Amino acid sequence: MTPSSKPNHVDAGWRFDNSYGRLPAAFYARLNPVPVRTPKLVVFNAALAHALGLDPDVLKGDEGAAVFAGNRIPGGAEPLAQAYAGHQFGFFTMLGDGRAILLGEQVTPRGERVDIQFKGSGRTPFSRQGDGRAALGPMLREYIISEALHALGIPTTRSLAVVTTGEQVFRETALAGAILTRTAASHIRVGTFEYAAARGNTDELRALADYTIQRHFPDLSADDNPYLALLEAVMARQASLVAQWMLVGFIHGVMNTDNMALGGETIDYGPCAFMDAYDPNTVFSSIDHNGRYAYGRQPQIAQWNLARFAETLLPLIHEDSQEAISMATTAVSGFADTFRQDWLSGMRTKLGLQNQEADDHALVQDLLACMQRHGADFTNTFRDLASGSLPEASIFQTQDFKQWFERWQARLKRQPDSLEVSCRLMNTHNPAIIPRNHRVEEALAAAVERADYAVMQNLLDYLGTPFQDPPEEAGYHLPAPPSAQPYRTFCGT
Ligand code: AMP
Ligand code: MG
Repeated sequence: MTPSSKPNHVDAGWRFDNSYGRLPAAFYARLNPVPVRTPKLVVFNAALAHALGLDPDVLKGDEGAAVFAGNRIPGGAEPLAQAYAGHQFGFFTMLGDGRAILLGEQVTPRGERVDIQFKGSGRTPFSRQGDGRAALGPMLREYIISEALHALGIPTTRSLAVVTTGEQVFRETALAGAILTRTAASHIRVGTFEYAAARGNTDELRALADYTIQRHFPDLSADDNPYLALLEAVMARQASLVAQWMLVGFIHGVMNTDNMALGGETIDYGPCAFMDAYDPNTVFSSIDHNGRYAYGRQPQIAQWNLARFAETLLPLIHEDSQEAISMATTAVSGFADTFRQDWLSGMRTKLGLQNQEADDHALVQDLLACMQRHGADFTNTFRDLASGSLPEASIFQTQDFKQWFERWQARLKRQPDSLEVSCRLMNTHNPAIIPRNHRVEEALAAAVERADYAVMQNLLDYLGTPFQDPPEEAGYHLPAPPSAQPYRTFCGT
């Protein structure tokens, strides 16, 4: 056997092409992840690995532990930390990957370009006071919730692997350290543009904008004004994304501009959580004292973030700054309508409606108001509506709900398709299972405290098919018992 035909046991299928590293040098710092003491692969997403063109059999053992810990850099990778800025709770700051490293862009068998990024991989030039590390619990939490969103059909970064590092990280107490490998269409954020604009170098800004167009919206390069078209296209993706969050009761929790990805994926799972009882004021994040990122404010905040994005593009949109402002303002003010259309169309589907009537918005709003008055569970109320026979307890017995129900039934009859078709539509769009906060915590506790990953795996299995009813006795569909403490989530942990 000649050397070249010898099987290469460590060819895991990496095919890197690192286009981000061809941007002007101001956009990143090149460095390798900081190696860790004793890496151990504790969670591995074999299905995702396969879709990326990676060989799960090669990566599931020690090779995966070494690679996903950053201890072994696969051939073709050109690791870097990305520079960016962002408005955090309304205030502008220079940021950057303080604990993340972009390993490179994997080109998949389908020709897609996917960022492979480590989170918790050590200090970088952007770490500020941080230790560059991550604790196991929050990395597992990101794994569970990002994979749940993916299964719900919502654009999101994904989770490929979690390794424990064998090192401790110090937060309020000493915790097990871990690294998450996440994948993304890209990590270009509103904050990346804010960084470019803050540097005041129009050539760099244009290079970033051209790169973003090429990577995410290649059709726009032929547009008369590609940068205005970029703004509009990013807005459309964000409107659709936030509408999809709203339709499943997802609260991102920290919609800072550095956590808004221009490719339109959900990114940065810190204090996010799903709402149980419907209340637009719901906030889980321990630091969101004013409810800036409450469930019901998400569309407005998305628009606010897009206005920050629009500001960065002004010098590219038109040479006359007044003209540029006027064009960008018109574009951004269109967000509310686009969002409302996406949301209403999703709500129609949730209610089994396939045609449109002028009163549909009011029909939905009246249901939501009724749910809020009675503290009804968001997920289960919609799921139960499709069941035909309504459950005995709770909201379904109230007078105001019964009146609404009659209206809805009458409305359902005013469309061409049968009730069976409507039911099927509802059952394929109203999830039976979401990552309930207490079930996520239960899975994390088993993994972190007892190294028992079976609870998490079981939860992930059910979350992977969210439109199938889980077995009743498993209780995955139930909200937390009323005795449970109010749920709190944390950033940057
Ligand atoms: P996040 O809240 O995760 O969006 O992070 C906001 C900023 O803080 C980003 O620039 C992160 O890279 C940085 N950051 C968060 N945690 C750490 C840490 N442990 N060490 C260094 N930087 C961090
Ligand atoms: Mg972030």
